[in-house]
Amino acid sequence: MKEQFYLKHIVGVIGKDVSSNPSVAVYNAGFASIGLDDWHCITLPVLDGCLEGATQGLKAFVTMRGLNCFAPYTIEIMKYLDVVSDSAKLHGAANVITDFGNYTVGDNTDGEAFMMSLKADAIDVRGRKVVVLGAGGTARAICVELGLAGVAGITVVNRSRARAEELLALLRENTDVAASYAEWNGTYTVPEETDIVINATPVGLYPKADDMPDVALDSIGQTMFVQDIIPCPLETALIRVMRRRGVSCATGGKMLVNQAALNIKKWSGMEPNITAMYDALEKASS
Ligand code: NDP
Repeated sequence: MKEQFYLKHIVGVIGKDVSSNPSVAVYNAGFASIGLDDWHCITLPVLDGCLEGATQGLKAFVTMRGLNCFAPYTIEIMKYLDVVSDSAKLHGAANVITDFGNYTVGDNTDGEAFMMSLKADAIDVRGRKVVVLGAGGTARAICVELGLAGVAGITVVNRSRARAEELLALLRENTDVAASYAEWNGTYTVPEETDIVINATPVGLYPKADDMPDVALDSIGQTMFVQDIIPCPLETALIRVMRRRGVSCATGGKMLVNQAALNIKKWSGMEPNITAMYDALEKASS
């Protein structure tokens, strides 16, 4: 009888609300683009209070190669890893976990992926004034990268002061950027001198796709650039309104694809085809 071999290399997309996260389609297109036909991505929502068990469990599965971690776990997961890379320490969050069998390593590719997407849209951040909505794990990675890239200033707009203060402390520790906190209590008015506005909150994420960050839309001027990081839907309500008003803006799609491509390289050592991955994202989102 012909030998049968059913094992595949498995990677998982974890998070709390990941049931509609299109990463699975993006990863599987990435694997196929480089002939990794025995690699497969699955979505693994993690129950509240179970992140430690899920992270430790990774080592028990022979065929699991890694995890891509999403909200709200990218900060907490660092406690449960055997090794936290310099990049994850710098960004204060880990979005990619590699399973080496008897130990796990957490890394950060969100920051690099975000900067790659700005570059692809020809956005030069040097000397720009940036407003970042949100202060979670992804905002941390974004703000650190912006600080290192030489922005003129960052205003972190967040409901919880404590979380924003942790982000400001991370920025002070790792960058020279001038950063401040703005309380998000009611509708936020974007200061006139702002160049770039980034939505790094989950507001607008499917299934609450009609939600918009509570920002005075008429305070977002025609000269500003708006970056949403929500990957699903690809065109959020915020982006739809910005496009209608002729404000230059970008979706979270490129960032999602870039970080998935960086993660595939980390797990397999191979560079997938980014265009094939983006096409898969658009198809999954249509
Ligand atoms: P976290 O849970 O770590 O942080 C969420 C942040 O958003 C907190 O600062 C929280 O504020 C704020 N927030 C949550 N709900 C609201 C609300 N209704 N109004 C105002 N602020 C709110 O999440 P992450 O930072 O990890 O992820 C955020 C989003 O980024 C996710 O939706 C995810 O889909 C997206 N993402 C996209 C990626 C991409 O590649 N495109 C990659 C990674 C994430 P508070 O502290 O006050 O609670």
